[in-house]
Amino acid sequence: MSAIPTMRRGACPSLPEPMQTGDGLLARLQPLAPLNLDQLAGLALLAADRGNGILEVTARGKLQLRGLTPATAPGLAEAVAALGIAVPQGFPVEVSALAGQDPSARFDPRPLARSISDGAAPLVPHLAPKTSVVVDGGGRLRLGGLKADIAVSAGEGGLSLALAGVPLGAVEAERAAAVVIALLQRLAARGMSARMTEVAAAEGIAPLRAEFGLAPPVPVGDAGVDPVGLHPLTDGGVALGLGLEFGQVRAAVLAKLMDAARRAGGTEVEPAAGRALMLIGLAPEAAETLRAMAAGLGFLTDANDPRRRVFACAGRPACASARLDTHALAATLVPLLDGRDLHISGCPKGCAHPAKAALTIVGLDEGAGLVVEGTPRDVPARIVPVAQLRETLQKDLA
Ligand code: SF4
Repeated sequence: MSAIPTMRRGACPSLPEPMQTGDGLLARLQPLAPLNLDQLAGLALLAADRGNGILEVTARGKLQLRGLTPATAPGLAEAVAALGIAVPQGFPVEVSALAGQDPSARFDPRPLARSISDGAAPLVPHLAPKTSVVVDGGGRLRLGGLKADIAVSAGEGGLSLALAGVPLGAVEAERAAAVVIALLQRLAARGMSARMTEVAAAEGIAPLRAEFGLAPPVPVGDAGVDPVGLHPLTDGGVALGLGLEFGQVRAAVLAKLMDAARRAGGTEVEPAAGRALMLIGLAPEAAETLRAMAAGLGFLTDANDPRRRVFACAGRPACASARLDTHALAATLVPLLDGRDLHISGCPKGCAHPAKAALTIVGLDEGAGLVVEGTPRDVPARIVPVAQLRETLQKDLA
């Protein structure tokens, strides 16, 4: 009998309850606060000792350890806690990796996120495990691209609320936490598999706006910038955003980066939405030096790098469900992209990118399925033998 608790259907993998995947057990964590460099180096060690040596940053900016086994997964939560890494105990609310440090932000989202997290804690057992709330303070790193049951965004002249991506209305800052918690209560009342799309459809956006006394929605501005690159901070320092190819980094490489960051004077590191790591506390010249070193270690240091537009899951041979060697395929297809998004998925599950991509290649028993403007679960426009993929795409994408 396994010593690992079985993950509930629809639940998210966590440290105490990892999820079975094709390449072993996967554990996910969302640190409560930025990590110091020793803490991330410690996580890299845990990934190497207990997993397959790969650490991931997801599209939502969460950390994942892969390839854990029934023998190594128990005790992982305690090992992470021993590094001094705290994970949210209440309802998890997402904020950007530069929250509170971005001089171009409209407000610091952390106090509001904390109030929502604390206030919604009793609702956690009654909500769908994937229920999500984001608080976007504006500025360079925006969270508008993330799917969320409720999004609170800094808008022109107020805070804008959206339900499942549909603008609901504007709310005063002092009422924002109470309104979000009341909306979550409304969601919980519909049962623990309900999501906000159902509430919005059943109750209607306009009636909800009137009931909660909200003003018409306010514009929330642009989508922000890619986290990869240099970002000025309120204290005069700089943050360096580094992209991870396919959202993955090997533990040994991460340990080298932490050493280099320490020598460059860095103090903190934070996983960022968009499969990136944000190194914080750097002087501008040191950040440039570190950027060059990180490029040498294989990190993506330019937001325009075409690999930023490629999503690929673990694939063959890492995942038993995979029909494609996703990473090898990506390397051959990147030169053909010409600015388009490409998602290569070893099977229809689509672990790497739940959203649509300009082109999706999905591994099927019959060959490689090609889906245009869709996801791996969509019916492919056609299926081609894997050996003919490059030649086919060369013609199609020309
Ligand atoms: S999408 Fe990729 S990683 Fe996920 S189960 Fe399928 S092959 Fe495995």
